Amino acid sequence: MTKPLLIQGGHIIDPSQGIDETGSLLITEGKVSWLGKGEETPPQPGYDVLPAKGRIVCPGFIDLHCHLRQPGFEEKETIATGSRAAARGGFTTICCMPNTSPPLDNQATVEFVKSKATTEGVVRVLPIGCISKDRKGEGLAPMGELASAGVIAFSDDGEPAVDSRLMRQALEYSRAFGLPIIDHCEDITLTEGGQMNEGIIATKLGLRGMPAAAEEIMVARDLALAQLTGAQLHIAHVTTEGSVELIRRAKEKGIQVTAEVTPHHLTLTEESILGYDTNAKVNPPLRTRRDIQALIQGLRENVIDIIATDHAPHTETEKLCEFALAPFGISGFETALGSLMSLVHDGQLTLNTLVAKLTYEPAKIIGDKHGKMGTLAIGAPADVTIFDPDMDWVVDTRAFASKGRNTPLAGSMLKGKVMATIFHGEMVYKDGSIKLEAKGK
Ligand SMILES: [Zn+2]
Repeated sequence: MTKPLLIQGGHIIDPSQGIDETGSLLITEGKVSWLGKGEETPPQPGYDVLPAKGRIVCPGFIDLHCHLRQPGFEEKETIATGSRAAARGGFTTICCMPNTSPPLDNQATVEFVKSKATTEGVVRVLPIGCISKDRKGEGLAPMGELASAGVIAFSDDGEPAVDSRLMRQALEYSRAFGLPIIDHCEDITLTEGGQMNEGIIATKLGLRGMPAAAEEIMVARDLALAQLTGAQLHIAHVTTEGSVELIRRAKEKGIQVTAEVTPHHLTLTEESILGYDTNAKVNPPLRTRRDIQALIQGLRENVIDIIATDHAPHTETEKLCEFALAPFGISGFETALGSLMSLVHDGQLTLNTLVAKLTYEPAKIIGDKHGKMGTLAIGAPADVTIFDPDMDWVVDTRAFASKGRNTPLAGSMLKGKVMATIFHGEMVYKDGSIKLEAKGK
């Protein structure tokens, strides 16, 4: 049995309980066992102390959208490396997309991911199952079998669910399992051959554009189908002002929809492509300042429910090529908090909202079938993230735990750093400067 751990004197933010004040947190046998305000100390003696003055102590982050690449693309990432990268980024729960090889469209591959996660992972890994068999968009995957295998949602992410009839069926069946359908919204007839956001910059660079309308057409269709079926729809990586508007109106009408936005779509514009940086090539593409403003407004007004990374690692050689040939994707776990904190430092988001979008809100979408998440409530698994909101650091991709070093933020200075990540009471990541103090009182 390990000694209880007291995280002492930090700024505790737990939107699930409305806590936003200085206090201490005791972890005993993997669970949150005591929470005290101000200078309070736990009643029982004998615990180690982790001083947290000046730091934020919050529930472990939850990522509803990432790519762990295993099975099939282990040169890009594995569950072992991806979950360590997640821990470095402050995430204790990550939901992995099924576009692996073979894809997660049957019980056996889902079981494979779950067993790898148990034996080699360091955080909670929750798989997402396919909508269609083999992700071909033709026939439905065995959704009942996938639901019993423990998937937390269905998605053909990487590709949209093109066929409206199939999407309708998937939404209808999903209701029986109480699980959301996550769609990657893209009208592929409008984006074919596209490399970046359509606009002046694409024209200047001579790259084929992907118009905002390609996303919005599919968002509108999905919302209509969600209304028709009464199912739970989740829109992946929203990037345009128009999509935010569509989702806003759907929510006003009472349609069951939730939506996510990524850290890169909130902080980077299409101008990141100006030097033909293939590490800024992502799908959906980086958009404009105006879109970013609408996305942030959407977060503030709960039109957009959560922030998800869409962590999409690739090998260096895959990205070291002509722009048109490079794969889409950004390795996002390890820079998520640092880049998102720029929105807090600029006064565009409160710390409380940011933490809610990374903890309590995604936990609501997943539900608690897989244990309590996104809360520091007494008795909940001790999944805790500690971060320094003001620490400056330079993104050094050589230090990444992820195999994917594909980020346009390489070499950038970020303000805000994860200092420790605790999963089920176990320290799965800690910054070199963190030291525990033993207290035998
Ligand atoms: Zn996607």
